[in-house]
Amino acid sequence: MKRRKALKKIGVGVSAGLLMPGFMVSCKKDDPGPEVQYDGTVIIIGAGAAGLYAADILNSKGIKVQILEASNQLGGRVRSLRNQKEILVQTSADFPVELGAELVYGSNSAFGKIIKNYNLSQIELNAQGTDQFILDSVAKSQDAWQNDADLNSVLNFVSGLPTYSGGDVSMKQAAGVSARADALLNSRAGNYYGSSSDRVGAKGVSEALGLIEHDNKAFIIKTNPLQDIITSRFSQIVNKVQLNTVVKSINYAGQKIIITDKDGIQFEADKVIVTTSLAVLKTGGVAFSPGLPSAKVASMNKLGMDHCVRVVIDFKKNFWGDATGFIWGGTEGPMYLNIGVARSEFYRTLSVTVYGPKAQALSFQGPDMIDTILAELDAIYDNQASLFIRKVINSDGTEGDRVWFLADWGKDEFFKGGISYPMPGASVVDRENFAAPVSNKIFFAGEATDVKGDAGTINGALNSAERATEELVTSITSA
Ligand SMILES: Cc1cc2nc3c(=O)[nH]c(=O)nc-3n(C[C@H](O)[C@H](O)[C@H](O)COP(=O)(O)OP(=O)(O)OC[C@H]3O[C@@H](n4cnc5c(N)ncnc54)[C@H](O)[C@@H]3O)c2cc1C
Repeated sequence: MKRRKALKKIGVGVSAGLLMPGFMVSCKKDDPGPEVQYDGTVIIIGAGAAGLYAADILNSKGIKVQILEASNQLGGRVRSLRNQKEILVQTSADFPVELGAELVYGSNSAFGKIIKNYNLSQIELNAQGTDQFILDSVAKSQDAWQNDADLNSVLNFVSGLPTYSGGDVSMKQAAGVSARADALLNSRAGNYYGSSSDRVGAKGVSEALGLIEHDNKAFIIKTNPLQDIITSRFSQIVNKVQLNTVVKSINYAGQKIIITDKDGIQFEADKVIVTTSLAVLKTGGVAFSPGLPSAKVASMNKLGMDHCVRVVIDFKKNFWGDATGFIWGGTEGPMYLNIGVARSEFYRTLSVTVYGPKAQALSFQGPDMIDTILAELDAIYDNQASLFIRKVINSDGTEGDRVWFLADWGKDEFFKGGISYPMPGASVVDRENFAAPVSNKIFFAGEATDVKGDAGTINGALNSAERATEELVTSITSA
């Protein structure tokens, strides 16, 4: 068995991607030295937003750091279609299409601030009037529904969530809407938070919403793929990432921590930050020796992370309305987004995001899932979806395959699902227990460990990196 000593280079300086001039990261003879005096090595598992940011912070403090990443790319659940070289047919969209995160939540949030620093042009999405709501197989704006009682009861329930004072039950039980509005409730209060409305806890979500400190704006970025923004922001630590390295076990019984990858190669570290998704950890994707404390495991089990698929469909015509942003209330596609809205003259691409048991069912259908989704759109839009789906044009001029893209996050062994959510009975205390360091050696980051109300988002991942690195530095300075 080969054992590698982690990290050969020591970097000093603050990394801020494109914003930071190169001279700031060079070491001079009279440099004051690292902010934190530490001879040890920190290994971070995972190069998603949390892992990259954690490495960036530690690196800026002069701590030796290395990232082990299972996949062949940076960004984790921030993944842009344009960067997937194996996809040969591209979308007709002249704007970036995302396979994972697509929205920036909050203009003054952790991610919002990164976007602001880059001065990127953004489009605010939740501006009034762009949302459409499906009821009785008809999609219309809130105004056009003219005070429909079922629509209003769903929207009032959702807008009242921050001050929800009912029982610790599922969204479906808490809302108690009529069967006609079930799919709409599911899409706004279940799927939106990572699963179906009978699995997501109303109290847990309400508590999280109350903790959020940033504003409620939601943006799409006009021209830049989110994956490029993340990799650019953390460009100073890209050379510290080892790709295609699937960590299988972490043994922290001895003085040194021994990390073993799937090929049996071992890495030695003094401290480790684990950022792999909740679902990867819950399904034993990484084995810990000794096992994790039972209180941590109990809290992890109170949080859910279910299947997720993102389907992107190219059409020859926008038949859902140029000014439409989201279309809520589908049964097969609980969240459709007109991702070209205000970004392009060609608003002909729909992004469909599905979490929970419905995502699992679609995934089970395999390539037939596209027919299921088109059938739902056909029922709403007078058979135009099947008629106008774009097809590849063969060299002889005939039409070939339909153009659509799938990211099956639930099937991917490095994610095993979409985003974490509180089940009924879970509270922020469970995220705190999950996040708690073990033996001052193993630290936990990643969206599911966020305790500031932003779990399930890029903000949550970034917040968690700040928290975990602070804990790690304290473990050094207070030793
Ligand atoms: C479809 C979808 C849509 C979303 N939409 C939004 C949105 O619009 N806005 C928003 O803010 N957020 C959104 N999110 C959530 C957001 O993408 C995540 O919260 C965030 O990217 C998570 O970052 P992370 O670093 O915590 O985890 P990850 O991004 O999952 O990073 C963990 C990394 O660990 C790696 N890894 C896993 N196992 C191993 C192993 N054994 N060894 C080594 N490495 C391993 C993975 O490959 C991955 O790179 C969405 C997520 C999905 C799936």
